[in-house]
Amino acid sequence: MKNEKENLLEIVKNILLKYCLCDNCLGRQFSKLIPGLTNEERGRILKISLLMNVLYSYKENEIILKKIILNSQLFDIIEKLNLSMEKINENDFKCYLCENKIKKENVKNFSQKILKEIENIEFKTFLIGASIPVEIHEREDMIRSEYGLITGEDIKSEINREIGKNLLNLTNAKVDFYNPDVTIITNIFNDNFFIQINPIFIKGFYKKFVKNLPQSPWICNYCKGVGCEKCNWQGRKYPSSISELIGEISAKIFEAIDYKFHAAGREDVDALVLGSGRPFVLEIIKPLKRTIDMKFLEESINNNAKGMIEVNNLCYTTKKEVNEMKIKSQKASKIYLAKVVFEKEINDKELKNLELKMNNITIEQRTPMRVLNRRKDKIRRKFLYYIKAKKIDSRIVEFEIKAQGGLYIKELITGDNGRTIPSISEILGNKASNIELAVINIEII
Ligand SMILES: [Zn+2]
Ligand SMILES: [Zn+2]
Repeated sequence: MKNEKENLLEIVKNILLKYCLCDNCLGRQFSKLIPGLTNEERGRILKISLLMNVLYSYKENEIILKKIILNSQLFDIIEKLNLSMEKINENDFKCYLCENKIKKENVKNFSQKILKEIENIEFKTFLIGASIPVEIHEREDMIRSEYGLITGEDIKSEINREIGKNLLNLTNAKVDFYNPDVTIITNIFNDNFFIQINPIFIKGFYKKFVKNLPQSPWICNYCKGVGCEKCNWQGRKYPSSISELIGEISAKIFEAIDYKFHAAGREDVDALVLGSGRPFVLEIIKPLKRTIDMKFLEESINNNAKGMIEVNNLCYTTKKEVNEMKIKSQKASKIYLAKVVFEKEINDKELKNLELKMNNITIEQRTPMRVLNRRKDKIRRKFLYYIKAKKIDSRIVEFEIKAQGGLYIKELITGDNGRTIPSISEILGNKASNIELAVINIEII
């Protein structure tokens, strides 16, 4: 049973006769043997045990003894043991695996350097991601196969853990493996690190009270943003947008470098959004601040937007919500209010007939002419729940329309030259000459 190969101290002796290792790098090879110790402690215990063992049985062989002491980096013991040795340069005995980079002092200094960089960043959670040079992995693999070691842990785990421990001591933050506020990518071997501030997501609803306000910035079609006579040298077709009204001031408040605006669908530039509003998620990119009172943010956005838009029910959310919102908004039903002026007079009987026909049916819609330059020409089938008609004047009707998301409402009214079937104009036999549109409810299931 007990042949030499299985004797732990023999293995350690053979390793240290050939390689100089720091406590961590020796201890790491035996991490799985005893839990609850640091690798540094394991390494230290093994070195001292080995040294005692050697002193006990090899006393006469000073060459082996000295070699083990030096490769164990136990320099202070030389004097204590009264060993006669030439003056040694400790730098000649750096750890073969880590070159002393993962020794306690170095990890501590490195962590303090990181702390200095993240001092001005607000974060409650973090994650360390150590990057390890290939040659270090290779050297460690080589030693493990040379001595048949199967009890070691990955050097990466050790470095992540040791830097993490330091940062836990130096800050009030916690480690979060799945959704950290900041991720710190480190390379302790070249004394380098990179701090990635992860984005914040804020969910809310917006209402839009004015026409000619696009959801996202609308660049001038003629000059593509350079500036021309048509756009009064602004480079834009419309001066502002919903995403800018919400995003810019938020980015400023969070001291962020940028933002992304995600909404559950979009309305036409001349359509209003009323009722409970349209859901959106604002992604704040690289914020220095993460904790902002949502009421304060809401008021700041609303005051700044001066009645053009209004946001409500702001709250923190996650990246997951962005995707879910986008998927759900495809299926969400919407209620619109459309005020339509017709060419000819309309009577109540015609409107009753329209309500009956436009009830729980599927509308077949080819991509509208007005968006053909941006979207692929295809046929969409969308569900129409109902139309309620209210006559305002002899030629003016107000419609309440409930439809599946993605149905083009203007084309449902005009028929778009037969591209939308059926349509209100077709059933009434009356051409629509002016349409005012507002979204009054978006039902996200
Ligand atoms: Zn080492
Ligand atoms: Zn222009």
